[in-house]
Amino acid sequence: MNFIRNLIRKADRSKMYVFLLSCTGIGVFIYTNQWSYFHLTTAEWVMVYTMLGAALILDYFTFQIPPKGNQQSMDSSVYLACIFMFGGAFSLSVLLPISIILLIKDRKLTWWKHVVNFSIYSLMITGASAVFEWTGGQIGAIDGYNLFPYFAALAAYFMINTITLGLFFLFSTKDALQQMKRVFVTESLLVYLCTLILALVLTILVVHNGVLGLLLYLSLSILLSHAFKQLFIMYQSIEEKANSDQRTGLFNHSYFENMLEIELNTARTQGTPLCLGLLDIDDFKKYNDQFGHLQGDSLLALLGDFLLRKTAGTPVTAFRYGGEEFTLLMPGMDIDESYRFMNKLRKQLNDTPFEGVEVLPHGCLSFSGGVAAYQVDMYNKSQLVDQADKALYYAKKQGKNNVHRYGSNDGMEHEIDLVQDVRDIEQQLNLFQYKDMDTFKHSKRVYKYALDISEVLKLDNVEKRRFVLGALIHDIGKLEIPWSILNKKEKLTAEEWDTIKGHVTWGKKMVMTNDRFADLIPYIELHHERYDGQGYPYGLKGQEIPKLCRMLTVIDSFDAMTTERPYQETKNIEEAIEELRACSGTQFDPELAELFIGYIEKRTAHQRSP
Ligand code: GH3
Ligand code: MG
Ligand code: MG
Repeated sequence: MNFIRNLIRKADRSKMYVFLLSCTGIGVFIYTNQWSYFHLTTAEWVMVYTMLGAALILDYFTFQIPPKGNQQSMDSSVYLACIFMFGGAFSLSVLLPISIILLIKDRKLTWWKHVVNFSIYSLMITGASAVFEWTGGQIGAIDGYNLFPYFAALAAYFMINTITLGLFFLFSTKDALQQMKRVFVTESLLVYLCTLILALVLTILVVHNGVLGLLLYLSLSILLSHAFKQLFIMYQSIEEKANSDQRTGLFNHSYFENMLEIELNTARTQGTPLCLGLLDIDDFKKYNDQFGHLQGDSLLALLGDFLLRKTAGTPVTAFRYGGEEFTLLMPGMDIDESYRFMNKLRKQLNDTPFEGVEVLPHGCLSFSGGVAAYQVDMYNKSQLVDQADKALYYAKKQGKNNVHRYGSNDGMEHEIDLVQDVRDIEQQLNLFQYKDMDTFKHSKRVYKYALDISEVLKLDNVEKRRFVLGALIHDIGKLEIPWSILNKKEKLTAEEWDTIKGHVTWGKKMVMTNDRFADLIPYIELHHERYDGQGYPYGLKGQEIPKLCRMLTVIDSFDAMTTERPYQETKNIEEAIEELRACSGTQFDPELAELFIGYIEKRTAHQRSP
């Protein structure tokens, strides 16, 4: 079975589904409609035309609903009203000509999508009408006794829609569940209820007042649609104002924060690259002082316009970060691409003429830029901004009018001098030698595991440095825990456990005092988070915990299991592996736990071989 399922790839499955759905829809149409066109009376033909006109008008005057502006057409109310008044076959007689007219009118949509649409509607109408009759609904005028059948018919109509479209998403897109939730649960429920009420109103009006009733109904719908449109336009303009910066015409700081959050999430979950550029106009104060703030403002406006033009048609979005600083969000671009992009911008700006730029030290408009890339161990958006800011600071120090990449190997971040860093951290860890020898040895072993695992994970130099130093320093906060608790042989009380848990927060505070090791904080703070969200201090879950921190949790626990500790029995390697597997998916990331087990098994086999 699995074999066959794999054989039929997703794309093929979605095509096959569309084909089967269309055949069923058309088959059901033919069966239910019974060629009704051949035996309609003149009066019935008039009603078909009238309802057809009504449905087309309603299809045109849609209700636009904020925030996304999803269009909701109320034409379903016509189909339902037809079912209530004249039955399913008649409703289908209205559906066919409408579908043909839409096929001719809306040629932007490919023909097979029109066919799918027709088939889904045909199934919905047939299903709803069957349920209406089955639950005892009487076709004709509105009747209080029919209340239950009305709702039952609506439910059937709604469910068939959900199931057919849901299956389509399932076969054709990656995040089918997300899509379905978005489309059906959050948006459609109210709309469907509204559709039912409108259908009942339409039925009453048509039954009692004929065409005049229909006209009344249409006028009301059109006016409502107009009101909705106005509301939507107003919403859009308010939203636009709230998100944009008046002076430069770019998006503003708060919108930047939102977008950064969203893009970081995408990068984290989809594994796509993301870069952030920060740029700051050089010597802007000098320009302001010389020509006044008003002229300075127009320089800012020019820069806004410049960035808008240069980012149009690229994946890059520009924001005014504040004052004379701007950010560029660059999803899907790696650090080299982003660097080239910013450098090109810089050169183009150098060549852009503007009044009075001769007074500036470079004799032209210029900015300094810093660019940083999202890394797997980031869990907080300020880390990325921080890195871009550090790179910008370095670019300024280099004499301005240049762009710098964070972590590039030209000595900026002191970094990569791993030996010195390790030595410095070890010096702090030495305090454990008198306080808690176990933690001292544990930290060193975890560091060694981390070194090996960085090879397995093929981390680049920057990631490797952070990962191994993070592993070495992760328990530093335990220095704050009293000697008596650390070395207690008996079972710990709840209070004492709370003290032990505090080490992640104390560790963070201790390291925050030293700028050099600030980027190791995630490892200190998050190594007791659990994959299932039951860990501390935040209860982060799954991908919310940076990958390398999840890795550290596995290493840390494995080492704790396999060495002597006051409060638990030591396990041998096989038992520890078994325990890792048992807690995989709850405490540990299953993939990373397996990766670590693979490494341990290989290492053990190697040690045993002569
Ligand atoms: P550096 O090359 O180091 O960036 O020097 P700088 O002069 O550009 O930077 P500094 O941070 O010293 O000065 C920034 C100036 O930007 C000071 C402030 O008056 C000016 N500024 C900030 N916002 C606005 C604004 O909206 N309009 C105008 N005209 N000036 C602004
Ligand atoms: Mg500045
Ligand atoms: Mg500046």
